[in-house]
Amino acid sequence: MNAVADRPRRLESYIAGTWMRGAKDGVTLCDAATGAPVALVDSGGIDFAAALAYGREKGGPALRRMSFHERAMMLKALAQSLMERKEEFYALSTATGATRADSWIDIEGGIGTLFSYASKGRRELPNSRVLLDGGVETLSRDNTFSAQHILTPFQGIAVHINAFNFPSWGMLEKLAPTLLAGMPAIVKPASQTAYLAELVVRRILDTGLLPEGALQLVCGSSRDLLDHVGDQDVVTFTGSATTGRKLKTHPAIVGNSVRFTMEADSLNAAVLGLDAAPGTEEFDLFVREVAREMTSKAGQKCTAIRRVIAPRAHCDALVAVLGERLAKVPLGDPADENVRMGPLASLGQREEVRARIRDLTTDAEIVAGDPARPQLVSGDAEAGAFLNPVLLYCDRPGAARSVHDVEAFGPVSTIMPYDTAEEAVELVRRGRGSLVTSVFTADPDIAQELVIGMAPFHGRVMIGNRLSAKSSTGHGSPLPGLVHGGPGRAGGGEELGGMRGVRHYMQRTAVQGAPGLVSAVTGRWMEGAPARAGGEHPFRKSLAELRVGDQIVTATRTVRLEDIEHFAEFTGDTFYAHMDEETARANPFFDGRVAHGYLVVSLAAGLFVDPAPGPVLANYGVDGLRFLAPVYPGDTLRVRLTCKEISPRMNADYGEVRWDCRVSNQTGATVAQYDVLTMVAKTGSGEE
Ligand code: NDP
Repeated sequence: MNAVADRPRRLESYIAGTWMRGAKDGVTLCDAATGAPVALVDSGGIDFAAALAYGREKGGPALRRMSFHERAMMLKALAQSLMERKEEFYALSTATGATRADSWIDIEGGIGTLFSYASKGRRELPNSRVLLDGGVETLSRDNTFSAQHILTPFQGIAVHINAFNFPSWGMLEKLAPTLLAGMPAIVKPASQTAYLAELVVRRILDTGLLPEGALQLVCGSSRDLLDHVGDQDVVTFTGSATTGRKLKTHPAIVGNSVRFTMEADSLNAAVLGLDAAPGTEEFDLFVREVAREMTSKAGQKCTAIRRVIAPRAHCDALVAVLGERLAKVPLGDPADENVRMGPLASLGQREEVRARIRDLTTDAEIVAGDPARPQLVSGDAEAGAFLNPVLLYCDRPGAARSVHDVEAFGPVSTIMPYDTAEEAVELVRRGRGSLVTSVFTADPDIAQELVIGMAPFHGRVMIGNRLSAKSSTGHGSPLPGLVHGGPGRAGGGEELGGMRGVRHYMQRTAVQGAPGLVSAVTGRWMEGAPARAGGEHPFRKSLAELRVGDQIVTATRTVRLEDIEHFAEFTGDTFYAHMDEETARANPFFDGRVAHGYLVVSLAAGLFVDPAPGPVLANYGVDGLRFLAPVYPGDTLRVRLTCKEISPRMNADYGEVRWDCRVSNQTGATVAQYDVLTMVAKTGSGEE
């Protein structure tokens, strides 16, 4: 036997454009199920100051040169490429103790997050490099001084320190918003499962899709990494509360006011509503959800249900049904198709969970499962970190401490009884801040009382009942579009949440000045900024010719009573204020019959539209429509339409144009205001 060939592989870090091994063999990482060595990990020899500088100086500028849409397209291409390689990831993931279903969350869930950010980025962000935040703040009566908040990416590097439980998802869910925002990253996966993160990073870099310096990887300990973080850097952490607190108060983080996002342990709960007695669909759904959350990823999920809060009268039934269900979960080798739950990540982690179960038994009794003697359908109970699900019951949770305080990071939950909804909320709050709690009820009043009572203590609350059962994504799944994070004990951080997650990597700045100059910065026209009226109709211009500020001031149109009557009859909208002088006058807002708002909008279109075929392809909506003053028969309307924002679409021969539309009457008062949204061809005036 060749001893050298059989040695586990030494993981490599990707630093400053080079794959490098640690200085020593380092720590041996073992297969969670067999105990066989999988890899060696060591970060010795890495110059962390140089690594951070490389990201800031090489990756950052390259990413910032790209528009949001270019970065979104990069994420999409990356996701497509990783999806093609997924089986390679699945094969290695088994060593972490993950079953195929567990790995799906980690691998395809992570890639799915890239896809989701790619698509949201193109739909919700402009094809530019500056993101606007909120509307224009008018600071002078004559529109010579205004302000707009903008967001621009930090010019530092994002340092992502990740947990062992989701080496792929945990990395990709942070990378997606970071890269979309335009920041480079250095990822430090937890050592225990770093081999999978290393493989995914290799495949990411193999694609050549990311600019050099946009992504670096540290395999092994962080050492002095954080000593070098600076004022433009961002640090995110996922892991234990103890480490998190230590990092949050690191002198470089405190001294440089580094933005720090922490996602620590969390005693998430599930509450069974007072209405959900045994025999109801909600009771059955609750049992299924708790069992799934306890066993998925062997309970090593930051969102797993640790506290099961149920009406006292239903607790006996719950213990019986849940206990029976958990006892049937086949535990064993994660590669075995019959297995539904694999081992914990390491033997050390199993000892840790057993110790935490002992802590919990100061307040609760074990009612199902034996932590000491694993019952397996396959695998070796001693070599692998196997642990059957353990259910506890705490009869007096109001007086107990450990059940609200101790996180056993494995297939462990404690049932606790309550009598009133108020008491249930109080028990949930004793977790002192969680990532997620779910409430199972079919009663709207119960849902309202429970959810409003507990919302300030959570980043997410899921309501489960029979109507959503089929479509529900479940208690434990963080979704790209929804906030993931929680206050207090959960770390006080917030990840994902769609574009909210992207904003963590950007600085918000209020830009004040003459509107023309503020518009030049933002790329969006605002009131008071220069406009060019009187030339060719802007609808005759392709994106290549159109400029922000191009404007048309239309001819006028007088609204006649016959117009109002015709519109009413034609559309069927015969609301009294349009039809009857006397009752219209009695309305506090009108001095007589008024034109329909939609008639005003239609007449406005009649005034500003240029009818011949041309570069304007379609009108796809209006934003922010407001009717600001009534229009009476005899009033004369005029429209001012200004090109507000141009967003060329990538890989298409058209783009979106937003037009500022103001409809005024004969006195100059604005009667309606809105943004008209159109699709416009990139080239060609349409006259050929
Ligand atoms: P740790 O807090 O020990 O580690 C989390 C990450 O921080 C790892 O990447 C780790 O690296 C790194 N780290 C540890 N110490 C330092 C340091 N001084 N400076 C910089 N980085 C550091 O958590 P574990 O992963 O070991 O898990 C322990 C417990 O945390 C679990 O039992 C569970 O209770 C909780 N946990 C919570 C999760 C959640 O999402 N809420 C997820 C995972 C765990 P390295 O691995 O190299 O030490």
